[in-house]
Amino acid sequence: MKKRIFSGAQPTGQLHIGNYLGALKNWVALQTEYESFYCIVDLHALTLPYDPKVLRQKTLDLARIYLATGLGPPESTVFVQSDVAEHAELTWVLSCLSRMGELERMTQFKDKAKGNQERAGVGLFTYPVLMAADILLYQTDLVPVGKDQKQHLELTRDLAIRFNRDFGETFKVPEPYIPPIGANIASLQDPSKKMSKSDENPAGSIFLLDDADTITKKIKRAVTDSGTEVSFDETRPAIKNLLTIYQLLSGKSPDEAVEHFAGKGYGQFKGELAETVIEFLRPFQARVKEYDDKSLNDILRAGAETARSIAAETLRDVYQRVGIR
Ligand code: ATP
Ligand code: MG
Repeated sequence: MKKRIFSGAQPTGQLHIGNYLGALKNWVALQTEYESFYCIVDLHALTLPYDPKVLRQKTLDLARIYLATGLGPPESTVFVQSDVAEHAELTWVLSCLSRMGELERMTQFKDKAKGNQERAGVGLFTYPVLMAADILLYQTDLVPVGKDQKQHLELTRDLAIRFNRDFGETFKVPEPYIPPIGANIASLQDPSKKMSKSDENPAGSIFLLDDADTITKKIKRAVTDSGTEVSFDETRPAIKNLLTIYQLLSGKSPDEAVEHFAGKGYGQFKGELAETVIEFLRPFQARVKEYDDKSLNDILRAGAETARSIAAETLRDVYQRVGIR
């Protein structure tokens, strides 16, 4: 039997190159080796202010992006979180097992609450519990994510271990898969921050659907460090970040990428980087347009059915163990 993968992205903002390099690229690479579930986590998108009039459309747009990167049937199951009610139900049970203290330690909550935790939504606070439910429902072996999700994965494991200890062996304890390179792509405007969909400044992110002009402008305006050499140097994080993007999208090894730019300045480097990104995204952007709403909805409906059959079995077991059934 194949081992199982679960992962997901929120239909907030637009997917960027960090999401691709840190997550989706690996989802595609792993989907044949594993039985894979890739979810559009729309319930997570309610945790920060959003526009209800466009949420459903954003969910469908994200599904299109998943499919255009190569995810989906027959290799993997793509579905929408809110189509499988078990996600919300298991969240409640796990909430009763979670400690205030451990959720208060989550750095994403602190970041997204922007220093005003008293005013932050309770959903933002319990976001990691919903994420734990997403993963544990599917008896997941491996969770491919970017580095920012490492702490949430640790909480997921802790909750699984705690539940198994208190109520008997129920959940598989999942392992994270964080790629050695590309797990933490930084903002083009501030290399100390990760590239983020919810960043108010779009200049910091290269979106997967940006046109060639926009990409060129964003890369031209990307901050650089002092110095002139294009290399992987911890003391020059802006150049290191741009070179990482170049290296991963061009398919070169780190050494080949450095060698390629030996003796060339930042200007030439940025020009070639922009070309590389544009060329990489071109076929992908063409594929995004291929899915009409009908075929998309069919794929999502079938995906939800497959997901639900597994999720329901886990939840039945959980309800029995906690004494509800
Ligand atoms: P938001 O700001 O709304 O949280 P996000 O950019 O963090 O958006 P998510 O939908 O939360 O995107 O995350 C989807 C996946 O992309 C996760 O696996 C996450 O770890 C990964 N990811 C997000 N940002 C980066 C990044 N800058 N570099 C590498 N991986 C990333
Ligand atoms: Mg995020």
